[in-house]
Amino acid sequence: MIKNLPPFVPQEVCLSCDGCCRFSEENSSWRPKIGQEETDARCRQELDEDGTIKAIECRGQVQCVFFQAEDNTCAIYQRRPFECRLYPFLLIRKGDDVAVGVHLSCPHVREKRHDEDFKSYIESLQEYFQQQEVIEFVQRNQALPGNYFGYEQEVECLFQLPC
Ligand code: SF4
Repeated sequence: MIKNLPPFVPQEVCLSCDGCCRFSEENSSWRPKIGQEETDARCRQELDEDGTIKAIECRGQVQCVFFQAEDNTCAIYQRRPFECRLYPFLLIRKGDDVAVGVHLSCPHVREKRHDEDFKSYIESLQEYFQQQEVIEFVQRNQALPGNYFGYEQEVECLFQLPC
């Protein structure tokens, strides 16, 4: 597993939100995909054929199979996939290229988008994605970057990756 990425959204903000880990439908393109070396056994047991984590219906909503609605937490938090660690930032497919973008639907992003905090986090994210092991991880996992067709209004491209 590649070096950890410090989260942008404070944990207490995440825990009080009702957005992440829940989807509009069971085959939502927002479900996280798993990278090749993300071999956590529990995670691998809960994948659909396309390598995304399964979503299930629970208490009237569609949610990630690992989401624990009673306390808004993730059952595999310490071993959650790269895509979950990166969120609300996203890998975006741009033809042969890959960019990093941000999901503007995240309330914390909406609040901070034009603050210094956001600007300095983007700078640290750019440094993170310049590390050789991270570049190689993205190169090995070409299925991770998403197209986000139909969600163009919710996704802002921030910078292109050097791979
Ligand atoms: S694996 Fe965890 S963090 Fe990722 S979508 Fe599922 S519940 Fe959320």
